[in-house]
Amino acid sequence: MITVFNEDYNIIDAHIHLPWQEQYKTIQEKEAYLIDELKRNKIDSAILIADSLLESCIGNNKECLEIVKRNSNLKMVYGFTPLERYDEQLSELQGLLEKQEVVGVKLYPGHEDFCMNDNRLIPVFELCIKYNVPMVIHTEWNWDYYPQYSHPYFISQVAKNYKDLRIVCAHIWIPRSIESIKQTIPYDNVFYDMSSFAFDEEYKTLYPDASFISYEEAIEILNDIIGKNPEKIMFGSDFGTLKIDAHIDIVRRLNISKSNWSKLLFENAKRIYRI
Ligand SMILES: [Zn+2]
Repeated sequence: MITVFNEDYNIIDAHIHLPWQEQYKTIQEKEAYLIDELKRNKIDSAILIADSLLESCIGNNKECLEIVKRNSNLKMVYGFTPLERYDEQLSELQGLLEKQEVVGVKLYPGHEDFCMNDNRLIPVFELCIKYNVPMVIHTEWNWDYYPQYSHPYFISQVAKNYKDLRIVCAHIWIPRSIESIKQTIPYDNVFYDMSSFAFDEEYKTLYPDASFISYEEAIEILNDIIGKNPEKIMFGSDFGTLKIDAHIDIVRRLNISKSNWSKLLFENAKRIYRI
């Protein structure tokens, strides 16, 4: 729970990962740091997103699942790739959905070499609909050497063709968020998480070429979305890479009503992820 202008708000961080930095060598060390950071920032609960790859510094599905089972304040989103172990992943995912051990599925188009119009994704859409969980899509505006695999055009096509599928656009196409929202916000089944909106100085030093937005630009985009539809957007930090407190700082500077603050920080995530 955090306090903004003398009001208390419950808070769900809808987008976190295990830290990838080299000083956290084992999964146990990564878990300990993550849990400490959640406590320090007074986060009530969080959604841990697994990588789709077996070898990953942010944890694969199996590793993340073990962590979530040990910590009742964490829920897990399954990382899926259509590029390898296809049948194996589909049956593993179905089993986990059946047991309600995961609350969503994450796709990484743009990080990985597949586009959102790829027919191999159809069984994943269908599983999300059958088990009533959202599909989370990496929608950062990719650097120029990558095609725009999660371009808002593709997302709006999926939204139109699968009306019962809840779609969460993670990172909201930063830095080109405003133009991308225009194409996707009319769809009732499209939602957003604000993860990676706060590029802190430490991150900028590590990745000087990344497409940063300033805190002021982030605030402008968030005010714009909330002004258009306050039911659509969830708080998220992309912790593991970025900082939870920097994202909370941005939220504190928004010019929104009390009820919209609780929607952003808590209620929307609770409804969209059914947690
Ligand atoms: Zn992320």
